[in-house]
This record gives sequence, structure tokens and C-alpha cells, in this order.
Amino acid sequence: MSDAVSLHESIAGAFASQGDWERAYQHLRAALELSRACPPVIPEQLRREVDRLRRERAQAREESLRDALTAVYNRRYLDRKLADLPAPLAVALVDIDLFKNVNDTFGHFTGDQVLRRVAALLGEGLPPRGFCARYGGEEFVLVLPAVAADDAILLAEQVRTKVAEHPWPELCPGLAVTVSVGLACGAGGGTWAQVLDADRLLYAAKRAGRNRVAYRDSEDGYVIQYRP
Ligand code: GH3
Ligand code: MG
Ligand code: MG
Repeated sequence: MSDAVSLHESIAGAFASQGDWERAYQHLRAALELSRACPPVIPEQLRREVDRLRRERAQAREESLRDALTAVYNRRYLDRKLADLPAPLAVALVDIDLFKNVNDTFGHFTGDQVLRRVAALLGEGLPPRGFCARYGGEEFVLVLPAVAADDAILLAEQVRTKVAEHPWPELCPGLAVTVSVGLACGAGGGTWAQVLDADRLLYAAKRAGRNRVAYRDSEDGYVIQYRP
């Protein structure tokens, strides 16, 4: 029996060294179950190992759903979450304006710092179950479940203002950062259709001059909001 336990342990060790936590965990569980059935084998040590692997697995899972630069959720999390979320919800696509200029003028290191700060500002004051995810590059998505359209518009406008009014020169003299926002509020067609609509609205906000929020007030029309 103890040979079988050792065998499971060794296999678990091999999988763990390859970072395959799931299979390592399965083998340690098998070892633990065998050792429970056969008390003389030191179950305490195995239990500690299983606990450690369980913690590492949970941490690896959490990390796999976060963006490494900004620590907000990543695209993988967004894809999973959107499939689960019931309508109605509001989706805001937030894109940093002329970000290429920030990199070109102040360098990529400052560009990365701007991305981190914008992500932190976007994550502030979200409603319960709301979250921010990095959609890609300098684009973020705010997902706002169970938020009425009026509140979503207010929140999007607050986000725009908060970024525009942030003391950016403290980071780098001469630096200014704004965002444009496309906001799609709970309509039919599924959540991905909403993301696509938010994308169309984002480009409307860009075309209107950037540093703006665009949202629909009817099926065909949209409103561009900007309060300097
Ligand atoms: P617009 O207002 O139309 O959105 O203009 P833009 O310059 O923001 O858009 P564009 O798509 O031309 O450029 C996006 C830039 O974002 C280019 C790319 O180098 C930069 N970028 C994307 N990801 C990162 C990143 O992780 N770090 C840094 N520093 N820059 C990034
Ligand atoms: Mg941009
Ligand atoms: Mg972009």
C-alpha cells in the first residue's frame, strides 16, 4: 500500500515540477485517500502537501484571470463572465485617447504607468458585481450588471471626468490623458452584441473629438456627451 502512496506522490511531484497543478493535485488526493485507508502511513505530511497544492492552484487560477500589467481582469475572465451574465446590464468600452502619442512622447515606461493608473481609476466606485477588464492594448471594458441606463450614463461620465482631471503632470510634466467611452445599455441580442454596439459607439465618440461618452437614446440614434 505504501508503495502505491509513494508512487502517487512521485507522480504528483513530477506534474508539479511541470506546473501541471491539476494532475499533481489528483495524484496527491489519490495518495491521501490511500493513506487514509491505511493509517500507518504519515497522512499529516500528505495533507499539508495537498493543502499547499490547493492554495497554489487557487492562486494560479486567480492569476490566469488577471492582466499582468494592470491587475484588472483579463480577456479570458471577460469571455467567461459575459457568457454567464444575465441581461439587462450595461457595457462600457473605454479607450485611452491618442495613447500612441503618450508612448512616442514620454516613452513606453510612462505609457505602462498610465495604463496602470487608468485601470485603477476605472476600478473605483463600481457597483456590486460590476468589474473592469482589460479588453486589449489601451482598451478596457466596464461590465455593469443590474444597472439602470441613467446610472450607467452617470457612471461613464464620472469615469471620463475622473481620468481627464487626474493630476497627470505629477507622473510626468506635460502629460495629459483622456478617454473616450462607448456605452451600450441593456438591449436584446446578448451581451457580445452589446460589446459590439459599445465598440461602434466608442468610434462615434472618437469621431466627435475624443474625451467623450457616446450612448444610444433610441434604436437608431445616439447621443454624444461632453462637459468640459
Ligand atoms: P485613438 O485615440 O484613436 O484610440 O488613438 P490611439 O493612439 O490611442 O490608438 P492606436 O490604436 O493608434 O494606438 C494604441 C497604442 O497603444 C499603440 C500601442 O503601442 C499602445 N499600447 C498597447 N498596449 C500597450 C502596453 O501594454 N503598454 C504600452 N506602453 N503601450 C501599449
Ligand atoms: Mg486609443
Ligand atoms: Mg484602441
